[in-house]
Amino acid sequence: MKKPFLTLAQAREIVKTFPTPFHIYDERGIRENARALKAAFAWNPGFKEYFAVKATPTPGILKILREEGCGVDCSSLTELMMSERCGFSGTEIMFSSNETPGSEFELAAKLGAYINLDDLTHVDFLYNTLGGVPETVCCRFNPGGVFTLGESKEGFQVMDNPGQAKYGMTRPQLAQAFARLRELGAKRFGIHAFLASNTISNEYYPALARLLFQTAADVAEETGCHVAFINLSGGVGVPYRPDQPANDIAVIGEGVRRAYEEILVPAGMGDVAVFTELGRFMLAPFGHLITTAVHAKHIYKEYIGVDACAANLMRPAVYGAYHHITVLGKEDAPCDHVYDVVGSLCENSDKFAIDRALPEIETGDILAIHDTGAHGFSMGYNYNGKLRSAELLLKEDGSVELMRRAETPEDYFATLVW
Ligand SMILES: *Cc1c(COP(=O)(O)O)cnc(C)c1O
Repeated sequence: MKKPFLTLAQAREIVKTFPTPFHIYDERGIRENARALKAAFAWNPGFKEYFAVKATPTPGILKILREEGCGVDCSSLTELMMSERCGFSGTEIMFSSNETPGSEFELAAKLGAYINLDDLTHVDFLYNTLGGVPETVCCRFNPGGVFTLGESKEGFQVMDNPGQAKYGMTRPQLAQAFARLRELGAKRFGIHAFLASNTISNEYYPALARLLFQTAADVAEETGCHVAFINLSGGVGVPYRPDQPANDIAVIGEGVRRAYEEILVPAGMGDVAVFTELGRFMLAPFGHLITTAVHAKHIYKEYIGVDACAANLMRPAVYGAYHHITVLGKEDAPCDHVYDVVGSLCENSDKFAIDRALPEIETGDILAIHDTGAHGFSMGYNYNGKLRSAELLLKEDGSVELMRRAETPEDYFATLVW
């Protein structure tokens, strides 16, 4: 059973000030989860989580994570600018981008961020852009092939396709990049890789860590370069479906610790810091998209039309992603109706749920769409002239704070030349 963090009474109170649709985030959940992550990696003195800003680029959220000791992982100019305005500086910022414009490297370097290079050719591009290279530089590794974990009758627990991904350098290029960077003045190095997305497995991070730790030990021996940190990137997932088990971050941290003890410590690299760049795991479960049922339509199927649409949350439309739905106030009612829950875009993919068993929904009912705290609002867009919603924070004391107001038509028209 998935329980929303918002009650019907709370939602009714909120909509008096902030009409639906809106995204709302649970401060308590965010903080508790961030602390659990930190505890799971407390064995590594240099550990730091760099929250992937693209998942939830909202200052109110970034500031909470900063208070919990997190840094930020930025991928663009505006994410760097937002992070700076939220008080992040220096090595609290990781800059992991690809096909990066020179101006973005310039800002990252000016902020003193760790720069994570996506390609061998970016080494000289960085040097030519900055007129030098930072003392510490990270390189993104792509081992190629297919990455699998945990084979069973039902298939693999985790399967992804690094060999088809545009990111990172090959293994020989990684050593070349280190050697060239050192020639240009770099003294300390990081290694990063992202092999699989939204993994529901306590084995993903330990397996990735093993691969990266061994690669780091080999490359350090080959090149004589000093590896200062290993960045395990994102990819630890969340159970979007109620029947999926949740990852146990304590077990994951312990699995990474074991790999560290077995590979890095014997290689004389027991001073290497472990970094993470989690987005989804940090925020997804702690956000709901709150929407009101506005129409009920009966044709060949039963449709419930809501006031949110794929422009507020595109994962179902684009990936066919499952997002659980709770009808607030009917948490314990029998799910004896089957609906398609749909938005108002002129796109037939604009369906939050298809053939979903739910309690009977009446017009005016308020629905919570679960697990929208990451890659939810941030992937929003303005198709059909739809306006982006507000983002609210449910604070630990139960009060509600506006973090981003809803767009108005004036915002939508602001860039137009008439
Ligand atoms: C998207 C991304 C992340 C975060 O991924 P999650 O799946 O949200 O954990 C981390 N690092 C990089 C480089 C990314 O592109």
